[in-house]
Amino acid sequence: MKNLLADKSSGEDIIVKVKDVTIGGGNLTFISGPCAVENLDTLMAIGEGLKAQGVHMIRGGAFKPRTSPYDFQGLGIEGLKILKAVGEKYNMPVVSEVMDASQIEEALKYVDMIQVGSRNMYNYTFLKELGKLQVPVLLKRGMSATLSEWIYAAEYILKEGNMNVVMCERGIRTFETITRNTLDLNAVAMIKEHYRLPVLVDPSHGTGRRELVKPMSIAGVSAGADGVILESHITPDNSVSDARQTINIKAVGEIMEQCKIVRSVL
Ligand code: PEP
Ligand code: MN
Repeated sequence: MKNLLADKSSGEDIIVKVKDVTIGGGNLTFISGPCAVENLDTLMAIGEGLKAQGVHMIRGGAFKPRTSPYDFQGLGIEGLKILKAVGEKYNMPVVSEVMDASQIEEALKYVDMIQVGSRNMYNYTFLKELGKLQVPVLLKRGMSATLSEWIYAAEYILKEGNMNVVMCERGIRTFETITRNTLDLNAVAMIKEHYRLPVLVDPSHGTGRRELVKPMSIAGVSAGADGVILESHITPDNSVSDARQTINIKAVGEIMEQCKIVRSVL
């Protein structure tokens, strides 16, 4: 089989720049924000808190791929405008999910990095379109995707010429039901050993439980992750989506501190 562009043997490890934030290359990057952008005031307050904790980038969903079509679907472009306003106010790059190729051009007016959600990892026309641009892409693992399917999804983007791909392990479906997903740290260690793409862990979706977010963040960094994505809110219980796995701003700071300690020991 042909050597993949993602293989370590194909070149140096890939480092992705999102404005002045660097992902990979030995950096430990923290991205945080609410599952969904809810309104300007709430996101401003979250952004202020996250900035004070030293978080590097803000994330918030505007196009929400909800399991049920009756659940809150996100604010759409209005949400992206809010995200951009908060990012500019606190001088933090922003990342948000786009659900298909038709939304890319409009979204790029507002976001610095595009998230491909778990449910879209197999959307190859979308991946190819992202490959034709130089936009940083956060590629979440499909919830039932094997490691090689996930790597091939990245390869669809790389092959078109866009090397700005960051992998995100967000948990896979297993027989376990107590946790929402199972954060697959094998995959993180495999990517660090064999592939040249940066990889982040998302222990919020990876566990579905806020009390597990700290230990699994630390575990992710121990497995070699280049950073952590945390769902956070000023009042987590009031989050319109994914409240059960959302942590408060203070907890984000504590997790960052502990992850940095672990990284320095390693
Ligand atoms: C999210 O990031 O809020 C999200 C929907 O994640 P995933 O695509 O991993 O389910
Ligand atoms: Mn979420």
